[in-house]
Amino acid sequence: MRPLSRAAILAVGSELLTPSRIDTNSLFITEQLNLLGIDVVFKGVVGDDRDELATAARAALGRVDLVICSGGLGPTDDDLTREVVAAVLNRPLVEDQAIVDRIEARFASRGMRMPEINRRQAMVPAGARVLANENGTAPGLWLDEGDRVVVLLPGPPREMQPMLTRVMRERLQARSAGGALVRRIVRITGRTESHTEEAVRPLYEPWARAPVPISATILAALGQIELHVTARAAARGEAEAALDAAVRQVAAALGHDAYSVDGRSLEQVVGDLLVERGWRIAVAESCTGGLVTSRLTDVAGSSRYVDRGIVAYANEAKVELLGVPHPLLEEHGAVSEPVAVAMAAGIRTRARVDVGIGVTGIAGPGGGSPAKPVGTVAIAASTASATRSRVCRFIGEREPIKFQAAQAALDMVRRMLSEAGGPGGSGGPSGGPKGPPLRR
Ligand code: ATP
Repeated sequence: MRPLSRAAILAVGSELLTPSRIDTNSLFITEQLNLLGIDVVFKGVVGDDRDELATAARAALGRVDLVICSGGLGPTDDDLTREVVAAVLNRPLVEDQAIVDRIEARFASRGMRMPEINRRQAMVPAGARVLANENGTAPGLWLDEGDRVVVLLPGPPREMQPMLTRVMRERLQARSAGGALVRRIVRITGRTESHTEEAVRPLYEPWARAPVPISATILAALGQIELHVTARAAARGEAEAALDAAVRQVAAALGHDAYSVDGRSLEQVVGDLLVERGWRIAVAESCTGGLVTSRLTDVAGSSRYVDRGIVAYANEAKVELLGVPHPLLEEHGAVSEPVAVAMAAGIRTRARVDVGIGVTGIAGPGGGSPAKPVGTVAIAASTASATRSRVCRFIGEREPIKFQAAQAALDMVRRMLSEAGGPGGSGGPSGGPKGPPLRR
């Protein structure tokens, strides 16, 4: 039998076509299939509509050898996946008494009678293998259709995920070619998408011709660029080794702008750098309202290096809590580099820590001026021997501006720590070849 190599995913459910729900099942399914070297070549979201679902299922079956549907296996009238897939495959639906018994027992264990409508969930297309659902009533189904396979999984992630994991182990592994598709994400700051592309493009051709071929996609995310690097190989170890080499090449091409090649977030990278040095950090925030501290403390174990965060929104708070001099505020305004520097130095000395961060800006939508439009944010980082600061101009609404400001502040600290030499370094400027100047 031909190994399964190309898959399509259909997420079924009208709620997934509204602005309030998002299809996340397909992300998990893709990740799992990739582990077996099965490529997802197309996916879609379909409402609870007989004709739409039939059209989508037919289209998928015409294009790939594995179709995975999630959702629409419940007992209500709008749960149509079983029926429609049976019709598309020309199979009658037959009642499976074992499923009825299992659902009845599940209700009985909670002291309830099984509602008659749940019998629908026991109607399975002839020839289907039933996949037990340990976390809900809707059983999954596996259907062989010649060389092709259709798998129906329940919609709720907590039911779908364990079921798919088991199907992978018990059925799909044996039906795949045994290869592996492995992906790494390189996270980048300080470059646009096109500048990143320019720097890494020379790698693409040798990668494509390598014994373990590698492909890459660049994605712009808020406050950073991501380079997704993918390798396909006969064995997982081979793909991992090829990716190790590939991400090393990317890191060399991008220098300090590539901050993570192993999936770590910016806050994790900053945390690891602080731990390496045995340093502690404190944050003084105005427009980010605590977001920098919140992100730093999202990392488990951050109590080793986070001392405190202060949200000093009003000018008086900046004076009272951080010791920012009044005349500085009057002369330069609260959103200025000198004030950000005074905030960073103030929190560092008051908390008696090694690094202080100061962030002050205009998140909007009001409060901007021609000289300091909405999105103007002054950021500073301070150690005993060095200070960095810059004024950024971010574009967007309030929330993205706050996120980008937090991102820029964390990135400033990361560069300061990683460019200043190894553990125990002074925190001062080392002048790494690609590093930004000490003071921009
Ligand atoms: P049930 O027996 O629980 O009704 P079902 O297979 O019919 O199972 P749905 O009714 O389609 O599942 O979905 C139930 C819930 O599962 C949805 O409200 C949604 O919260 C979640 N869900 C469904 N599909 C997805 C998806 N693709 N991604 C993320 N969540 C989903």
